[in-house]
Amino acid sequence: TTLRQQEIKRTKTVCTYCGVGCSFEMWTRDRHLLKVQPVMDAPVNGISTCVKGKFAWDFINSPQRLTTPLIRENDHFRPASWDEALALVARKLLETRDQYGPDSIGFIGSSKGSNEEAYLTQKIARAIIGTNSVDNSSRYCQNPATEGLFRTVGYGGDAGTLADLVQADLVIIVGSNMAENHPVIAARLKAAKKHHGQKWLVVDPRRHEMAERADAYLRIRPGTDLVWASAMARYMFDHGYADDAFLAARVNHVEEYRQSLAPFTLDYAAQVTGLQEDALCESAEMIGHAERVCIIWAMGITQHSHGADASTALSNLLLVTGNYGRPGTGGYPMRGHNNVQGASDFGCLKNFYPGYEPVSDPQVRNKWANAWGVPAEHLSLKVGQDNFMMVEMARSDTIRAMYVIGEETAFSDADAENVHQGFTNLDFLVVQDLFLSRTAQYADVVLPGCPSVEKEGTFVNTERRIQHFSAVMTPLGESRPDWLILTQLAACMGHDWGYRHPGEIMAEAAAIAESFAGVSYARLEGWKSQIWPVSADGSSTPLLYTERFNTADGRATLFPLRWQPPAEEPDALYDLTLDNGRMLEHFQSTNQSGQGGRTTALSPHWYVEVSPELAAARSLNEGDWVRLISRRGTQELPVVVTDRVQGTVLFISIHQGKDGVNALTGEHHDPAVNTPAYKEVAVRLEPVDRP
Ligand code: SF4
Repeated sequence: TTLRQQEIKRTKTVCTYCGVGCSFEMWTRDRHLLKVQPVMDAPVNGISTCVKGKFAWDFINSPQRLTTPLIRENDHFRPASWDEALALVARKLLETRDQYGPDSIGFIGSSKGSNEEAYLTQKIARAIIGTNSVDNSSRYCQNPATEGLFRTVGYGGDAGTLADLVQADLVIIVGSNMAENHPVIAARLKAAKKHHGQKWLVVDPRRHEMAERADAYLRIRPGTDLVWASAMARYMFDHGYADDAFLAARVNHVEEYRQSLAPFTLDYAAQVTGLQEDALCESAEMIGHAERVCIIWAMGITQHSHGADASTALSNLLLVTGNYGRPGTGGYPMRGHNNVQGASDFGCLKNFYPGYEPVSDPQVRNKWANAWGVPAEHLSLKVGQDNFMMVEMARSDTIRAMYVIGEETAFSDADAENVHQGFTNLDFLVVQDLFLSRTAQYADVVLPGCPSVEKEGTFVNTERRIQHFSAVMTPLGESRPDWLILTQLAACMGHDWGYRHPGEIMAEAAAIAESFAGVSYARLEGWKSQIWPVSADGSSTPLLYTERFNTADGRATLFPLRWQPPAEEPDALYDLTLDNGRMLEHFQSTNQSGQGGRTTALSPHWYVEVSPELAAARSLNEGDWVRLISRRGTQELPVVVTDRVQGTVLFISIHQGKDGVNALTGEHHDPAVNTPAYKEVAVRLEPVDRP
């Protein structure tokens, strides 16, 4: 071994980007990342990664990283000591609570931080402040999917694992651009298709890579997926494909649901979805004939004003065909952030303690109060506010202070002007982040947290798989691991929790929350992982619902639905539909993936995709600049002419632009879960001169 090799440290970590949960070794010398080395033992990805996991790490040493706490003084920030900053945050939060009540404070936990940090965020909100107003960015993405699963089968997570997805005979991919957003899972499915004859049915307004490769592709009219799924369910009943034995043995409300499908004839579905009847028939026959069916869905389903209903419709279809509880079956909403699943699992939700234990159940409340050593009456039985409502209530002075951890709310929440008004109106805002983000610009105090490579913890990926990551390097400057910041803040507020290591936080969560009973750092050592629910003996549950559904009587529920059109549809003035989504080379606000520009350089420009027919009708050529105008705002960007989109549907990425897509999006949201209807935006388009 040479001296050079001796200096190289190899540390296992888990990717900080998407919900696939790739793990790999990082080879480092001091703070220099020498390479990302995937290994065969990695449970999700083996030797695969995507371009972000491999290369998008320049942010770790970015000169833009925050290295000291900052306190606002008039219109600028000044560096402050940790003692001063934490004391100020503690004092202001307690003063706000005492003056305006616990529900005048809102917490947004991080979907990039660890499970342990999510746990502490909700513990501060509940056990110290006394509010259930704590949420995370799943409000912007998969909460509607979770709601659909709660209504039908009972767990807010994927039914199985990647091992199940590759065993499916038929994978239905609805509103999910997996090849760009969950590339390593998409790669596994490509292999299953190539080597094992797996079939894909893709339903999406946009012809992305998975659609190009599909056995059948339905280019559906945006916002009409519920009609397609319900028409499929009706076809299953009408043509003898419904799994009667499964329905009789394991499902409630079958007859009531079957009757609710009366309007969803193929003829009606064709009118609403814009699909041909024979294409609908073909997709129904594919589903009816398949032995094992999985449905994957993502933001194309959820980010609508009725995304929870559309998610429910997909789960209904799986139940009708008996596609739950066997290998190669089930519902798979794909999680976006690396730990958006874990942030919800560990209690950053307005209605659940960790492990989805309801806040409004007095027995559950008593159990948590006992475990935390606080009086039961201190823990609120009242469901709290979510991200959407926190911003609304900040505008109306009902929420006076907020604490935002690792979330770029000012760029990511819909209707940017609304968010601006809300944050401007707050009495006190704390932002804990790696960078002086757009959200941090509104803050009174900014606390410098650490990325995953500078701390230890666990994440939960989209499969419900809990994985441990170790510190690759020490924190930059005076930044601190977020679990430590939260522990120290609690101490400043008079609650000395005494955690010295994140493993102690997980041990506490596991001792209280039934779903994590057997989770421990010892059982997560090396490349080991656990998949919740984890029983006390440490055994995982990779495949849910094999014996019973997660409901009081163990039976699933078929949930009748009505279709409602999108909240904002094209009209004479705003005549185009603006679709939007992620790209492979970028991640969300690009606060991390954009630093250093290595992956950004692969796709540097913001552009709008325009269909060939629309380009011809408007005399637009590739590279021309246009202004997109919605009822809320405008954005200017160049045109790319492509048949990825069709007719009057446009597509832009959510990553770029100073104000981004949310200068255009509006106030519409799903009333069931308050998820913004990012995908329901009508715009018009005007040619402008190239800037
Ligand atoms: Fe990271 Fe997701 Fe890429 Fe895997 S697929 S390397 S988790 S961004």
